[in-house]
Amino acid sequence: MSFTTHRTRTLSTVAITVIALLSTTAAIAQNGPQSAGPVDPELIQDLIAANRTLASHGIVDAFGHVSVRHDKDPNRFLMSGSRAPEIVTEADIIEYDLDAVPVNLNGRGQYSERYIHAMIYKMRPDVMSVVHNHSPSVIPFGVSSVPIKPLYHMSAFIGDGLPIYDIRDESGMTNMLVNDAARGTALATVLGDEPAVLMRGHGVAVTGASIPFAVGRSIYLEVNATIQLQALGLGGSVEYLDPEEAQNVLDAGENTGYTRPWELWRRSALGE
Ligand SMILES: [Zn+2]
Repeated sequence: MSFTTHRTRTLSTVAITVIALLSTTAAIAQNGPQSAGPVDPELIQDLIAANRTLASHGIVDAFGHVSVRHDKDPNRFLMSGSRAPEIVTEADIIEYDLDAVPVNLNGRGQYSERYIHAMIYKMRPDVMSVVHNHSPSVIPFGVSSVPIKPLYHMSAFIGDGLPIYDIRDESGMTNMLVNDAARGTALATVLGDEPAVLMRGHGVAVTGASIPFAVGRSIYLEVNATIQLQALGLGGSVEYLDPEEAQNVLDAGENTGYTRPWELWRRSALGE
């Protein structure tokens, strides 16, 4: 091999390498953020079980969604593409970054309100799972001057009430959907450090330190709203949990960390 030939080949190799690097960079820019890698398969099964459990309890119908933060990277979360929760499968799960940009869309449709999840994860490092739903008995408390309050121990996480996000405050007249980053940020700001935020004329966003917490709170929030409406309908005065009693429930582990109901819900949802 002559020196010239060798040098030519070396230069060619360098050129090919540079082109390959540029192509890779362009591909990342074109395809969006990089994946955080494989997710624990059990977490995916938990997410599918959460979708089905919320559907079977009437918390979501064709609308509403649940997400979980990625177990390998706090800057990623996982949520189904645009499907009714009851029929979500592993093939529907999309990985997102905290700007709600999909990592692996592959032509699937998306929930327009994915910004609810992204902006809450961005502002609340303690939150590992988010549910957004329109559960029917909760809606009145987002539009009434009567506040939602914990009527029984299972809903003690309500504390002394929940904040209400009114989309008009920041966004004026809208289609009521939290379908961009500005609205998601406004919602997460009203949520603050609370476990859930009511959405005026729309629904609720519920958070948890795990999927069982977010799902359990969503279910018992709906139950609390139902029985609070019933208690108010009796016409007399209503005794709610004292904030100190509610705090004591949380200090004792909040419904045993929802481990018992979650075992039941997950097995039922996955047919185990
Ligand atoms: Zn919604």
